[in-house]
Amino acid sequence: MSLLVVGSVAFDAIETPFGKTDKIVGGAASYISLAASYFTRSTNLVAVVGDDFPHNFIQHLNKHGVNTEGLQIKEGEKSFFWSGKYHTDMNSRDTLITELNVLGSFDPIVPASYQDCEYLMLGNLTPKVQQTVIERLTKRPKLIVMDTMNFWMEVAMDDLRQTLKMVDVLTINDEEARQLSGEYSLVKAAAKIQEMGPKYLIIKKGENGALLFHGKQVFFAPALPLEEVFDPTGAGDTFAGGFIGYLAKTDDISFENMKNAIIFGSAMASFCVERFGTERIIDLSQRELDDRIQAFKNLVRFNIGANLSQDN
Ligand code: AMP
Repeated sequence: MSLLVVGSVAFDAIETPFGKTDKIVGGAASYISLAASYFTRSTNLVAVVGDDFPHNFIQHLNKHGVNTEGLQIKEGEKSFFWSGKYHTDMNSRDTLITELNVLGSFDPIVPASYQDCEYLMLGNLTPKVQQTVIERLTKRPKLIVMDTMNFWMEVAMDDLRQTLKMVDVLTINDEEARQLSGEYSLVKAAAKIQEMGPKYLIIKKGENGALLFHGKQVFFAPALPLEEVFDPTGAGDTFAGGFIGYLAKTDDISFENMKNAIIFGSAMASFCVERFGTERIIDLSQRELDDRIQAFKNLVRFNIGANLSQDN
């Protein structure tokens, strides 16, 4: 089933305890579409870059089967630029620079050939732009997944509330869930956020895994314990790309299948953090993917018998 991905395609400069990069390719939609491409060959991208953006990355996306007809290239303008520095624990980071450049006036034009998409992934962008994309689709997709961040809760809460009413699944991290709901307990936060619109909520907890909520149902997926987390940038987006890519491939949006999708999303994210930027997820083999899924299965498999009554 075809997937439409909207989000930033950008330059990032990243500093982690392991090193520092100059401008490298990043952006939420870059990670999402690369991750999704391992599951579906029908991924369509809507984004904007300046004429400073490297053509070879666009070619990489095309090689992965990502359709870039909806990627606008603005002559004489600069691509979105973000710079961040991670703290020693790698769980938190400071944003050093955000230069919106082309993203500041982004008009998300959806090509006619994308109109039949069944799955929509709204990567982190202003809620207004996310909403515009939904409104421009002549037919509502079967599933709309949205990512957002604390920044939009601070500067565009009214728009965010409106957009939340239009989506099926929201992915955010634990701190953002607390901020959005005003509840410390993630269970209470999940209930409140579901009342705002999305009937499914994924709360990402970094190296502590992810939770999927739907009504009273909850599912937990761990993150794979890795010897070294090199660069967490884009892990959330890569997770989302694996999640929606798997759903688009299987075309099954039941809660049961979303559990599998979360495992595939977590597996993709575990690759992402092993190198800077998109380096690790640009060229994965099927064998590497299969082994990683097996590692997840081994991590959580245990055998407790049905009879738990005490001995007399
Ligand atoms: P994540 O690590 O999953 O939060 O995603 C990091 C990516 O998000 C980076 O590649 C950035 O280019 C991109 N990003 C950071 N801030 C923004 C923003 N305000 N709007 C859109 N994309 C952003």
